[in-house]
Amino acid sequence: MHQMTLAEIARGLADKKFSSEELTKVLLARITQLDPQLNSFISLTEELALEQAKAADARRANGESGALLGAPIAHKDLFCTQGIRTSCGSKMLDNFKAPYDATVVAKLAAAGAVTLGKTNMDEFAMGSANESSWYGAVKNPWNLEHVPGGSSGGSAAAVAARLLPAATATDTGGSIRQPAAFTNLTGLKPTYGRVSRWGMIAYASSLDQGGPLARTAEDCAILLQGMAGFDQNDSTSIDEPVPDYSASLGDSLQGLRIGVPKEYFSAGLDPRIAELIQNSIQQLQKLGAVIKEISLPNMQHAIPAYYVIAPAEASSNLSRFDGVRFGHRCENPENLIDLYKRSRGEGFGPEVQRRIMVGAYALSAGYYDAYYLKAQKIRRLVKNDFMTAFNEVDIILGPTTPNPAWKLGAKNSDPVAAYLEDVYTITANLAGLPGVSMPAGFVDGLPVGVQLLAPYFQEGRLLNVAHQYQLNTDWHTRTPTGF
Ligand code: GLN
Repeated sequence: MHQMTLAEIARGLADKKFSSEELTKVLLARITQLDPQLNSFISLTEELALEQAKAADARRANGESGALLGAPIAHKDLFCTQGIRTSCGSKMLDNFKAPYDATVVAKLAAAGAVTLGKTNMDEFAMGSANESSWYGAVKNPWNLEHVPGGSSGGSAAAVAARLLPAATATDTGGSIRQPAAFTNLTGLKPTYGRVSRWGMIAYASSLDQGGPLARTAEDCAILLQGMAGFDQNDSTSIDEPVPDYSASLGDSLQGLRIGVPKEYFSAGLDPRIAELIQNSIQQLQKLGAVIKEISLPNMQHAIPAYYVIAPAEASSNLSRFDGVRFGHRCENPENLIDLYKRSRGEGFGPEVQRRIMVGAYALSAGYYDAYYLKAQKIRRLVKNDFMTAFNEVDIILGPTTPNPAWKLGAKNSDPVAAYLEDVYTITANLAGLPGVSMPAGFVDGLPVGVQLLAPYFQEGRLLNVAHQYQLNTDWHTRTPTGF
């Protein structure tokens, strides 16, 4: 039962082969049995899940239908869930029970999705390995000695290990696509403004975007359908109609123009990954796509710009966690300054503290023009590169990551080494573009992802290409041994 995709679950529920309650019980038991190896959940919500499953079964018995009605999912633990701990992977929020549901959580619940729990993540979504969580590192089900990617590593490991079919995640610089690549999943970062950020604890507000992590493009379409849409509570939400993402999955790729940036194949890319990317290009050519070499000349500046802008926004967003308004409060403070200092010093882990310091520095008088303003100018150049490229091509294709999942702890002493691994993903966040990562093969038994980027609001095109690719390849069907 645990091997089913969301699409298969929807068919099974519609055909009354099993109930949502039965399926929910099977998956909860599986999580209890297997998750101790992975540490992919921070909280399990058994009672809520069973209640939602029974309600979904009752709605179906009353003639309602819908692909998400009775479908088990989990939320990354930065989506606020009313009355349930929403920790953001931090000691700071260990005892925080959100007073309301995030829009994404409310929308999915209204569509009948069943919440099994809240998944582990890098603290405040800062990281690419899921090692900065206060609740401990998450393990990659493909090799328990390796990281699952981050920051949505909990959602990725849980879905990859078939503990559940799909989960929500967020992507500020790659945190949906990179863990998807590291765990053999399909993950989609939507256009900035497509999915509401209301009730999603902010890391870098101008970059953060929620989206689906699942095994197939078909399932990403189903989950995105439930997440996307205008929300008047989010001032950056965009009032554009939401297309039927499942309806366009079958479109032909004949004549689709795919751009491959020459900068992608530089020395930093593992040659074995480069070869798998070439294979996926050939596969898409067989399906009718036309390949064109393009250039993204400012790509090399994207990492330094991102690692100024994201910490700058984070230093501002995280100022609310002061032990007074929100967050952990130290014992017996001597005075207000002591209260702030010790509450923040105890509540935030080292990576979060590093980012706050970098961000506050970049924003401070005297350095603002040299760092923050400069980074914003680079951001515009990165966006312009994409706009030029999309005049000529429909899709941009390349690797999701330069290397496969590294060993736990391998990059702990050198944060910049981990930042460099974001080279292919962060440009889409800087430009606000949608991107998908899909399975493309294995290197040393570890999964590799291919990334597709598209113009604004072309999530349907991305899912269509990924689905057609998946109809003709079987990488996405491979299961990690032991799960
Ligand atoms: N690795 C990037 C960072 O640490 C991206 C994280 C994310 O997308 N949330 O900032």
